[in-house]
Amino acid sequence: MNAEAKISVTPTFRAEYGHFIDGAWIGSDGSKVIGLSNPATGQHLANIQAGTPADVGRAVAAAKRAFPAWSRTSFEERQRILLEIAQRLRARSGEFAVMESLNNGKTVHEATIHDLPEAIGQFEYFAGSVWSLKGETHNHADLLGLVHREPLGVVAQIIPWNVPLLMASMKIAPALAAGNTIVLKPSEIVCLTVLEFVAEIADLLPPGVLNVITGYGQDVGEALVTHPDIRKVAFTGSTSTGRKIIEYAARNIIPQTLELGGKSANIICRSADLDAAATTAAIAMVFNKGEVCMAGSRLFVERAVRDAFLEKFVAAVEQIRVGDPLNEKTGLGSLSSRMQYDKVRSYFDVAREEGATILSGGDIATDTGLQSGFFVKPTILTDVHNRMRVAQEEIFGPVTSVITWDSEEELLSQVNDSLYGLAGAVWSEDLRQAHRISRAMQTGIVWINTYYNLPRGMPLGGYKQSGFGRELTWDLLREYTIQKSVIIPLSYSGL
Ligand code: NAD
Repeated sequence: MNAEAKISVTPTFRAEYGHFIDGAWIGSDGSKVIGLSNPATGQHLANIQAGTPADVGRAVAAAKRAFPAWSRTSFEERQRILLEIAQRLRARSGEFAVMESLNNGKTVHEATIHDLPEAIGQFEYFAGSVWSLKGETHNHADLLGLVHREPLGVVAQIIPWNVPLLMASMKIAPALAAGNTIVLKPSEIVCLTVLEFVAEIADLLPPGVLNVITGYGQDVGEALVTHPDIRKVAFTGSTSTGRKIIEYAARNIIPQTLELGGKSANIICRSADLDAAATTAAIAMVFNKGEVCMAGSRLFVERAVRDAFLEKFVAAVEQIRVGDPLNEKTGLGSLSSRMQYDKVRSYFDVAREEGATILSGGDIATDTGLQSGFFVKPTILTDVHNRMRVAQEEIFGPVTSVITWDSEEELLSQVNDSLYGLAGAVWSEDLRQAHRISRAMQTGIVWINTYYNLPRGMPLGGYKQSGFGRELTWDLLREYTIQKSVIIPLSYSGL
């Protein structure tokens, strides 16, 4: 290992975090804790509370008390606070990038170039969005109509472990901008940055506006979403948990934003720039260890260029260095947990059983320079057809299934033969073909000759079982507000 490339920032964080309720850190009602650890080394990082329904009740009550005053804050005030939050994050971004790497196993390089700037950007973007809440007027001949946009009240937000600080920012920024108060539940597996972030910005918000409950989903999730004072739930996580969230939300009929799983198609056509396509396909597969809902996990390659493309793709993948996430030269860090490690390895067996060929990888990575850790080699599967489990199920690791195609018609029927529809890409120098394919893809995002390139403000969200609602865009404020129509006749009409 190249010791000189090792990052030298030492982050400051607490040994134990409480729930954050009503502006203070408090222990759990059940007084049980959960340990957060570094998946690359096994090192213990901090303890968090294993929450209970009683803790949830306290957090929702605090958020409910804080709502009337927060909902009446001026747009100027909300904008100022959101910009200050961004500033606080920026001032400690080096530390937060290392913390995210320590707890999640992602490379510090990825956290530095992606997670932190994007998280900061959420607060800056939604700081500007507050002005879009100004409402509408409708001028009719004898009547004036006003449409107000009112905040909903207390919102529940539940997020996963793969990009926790960014996910928290994607949830918190629009909810605050719209004037809601929040009870956020991060993942019990990775949430160090979320808690330290809340500690960092605690003094910027009135008590109760932002509350955080930690713990296992089954212990606190249902109590949170079904609480009678919750007015909306925003959830990012697996499709199976998303289905439960819909059931919980049905009890009090609250709206939901659901960002769920994916099995995205990355399509290579014969006219593609094969060098660019191969390099980018490798990134689409290994970025954040493939623990990304939008990962390019199905790679559809036109038969005429299959061999030429695969040669370049294998070369790009085999150059990626697997190892210490804190080393700046590392391209692929540790999977986030033993559970994820076991799951990804089990799909290596599934691939073999289904008759796929393992063209590269298919095993754990041992030459990482570390004694332990959940490291796997980036894995390319060929001889895959789209109905195989490896092409249908979300593996959530650095694994891609190569499927060969001959005609556009056959291609599209396979691309769309998926429960999911979150993202995808098409590589073609024939723009008519690229647009034809992109129109036919049943997916919320289509990249043409690029991947993971999402400029600020463009909506993220799924078709089919990838969920519904769109994040990252001002339109999201519609989901965090409710419309009220006020009608004023300009002369007495008797009606
Ligand atoms: P998960 O569904 O297991 O957990 C997500 C969150 O839900 C966690 O905080 C968990 O504690 C909580 N939870 C678990 N059971 C619950 C219950 N019964 N009630 C309420 N909350 C509960 O998902 P995960 O394994 O943490 O994350 C990986 C999944 O997230 C993948 O499927 C991935 O595709 C998806 N994801 C989607 C997007 C997107 O934007 N579409 C982004 C990132 C991740």
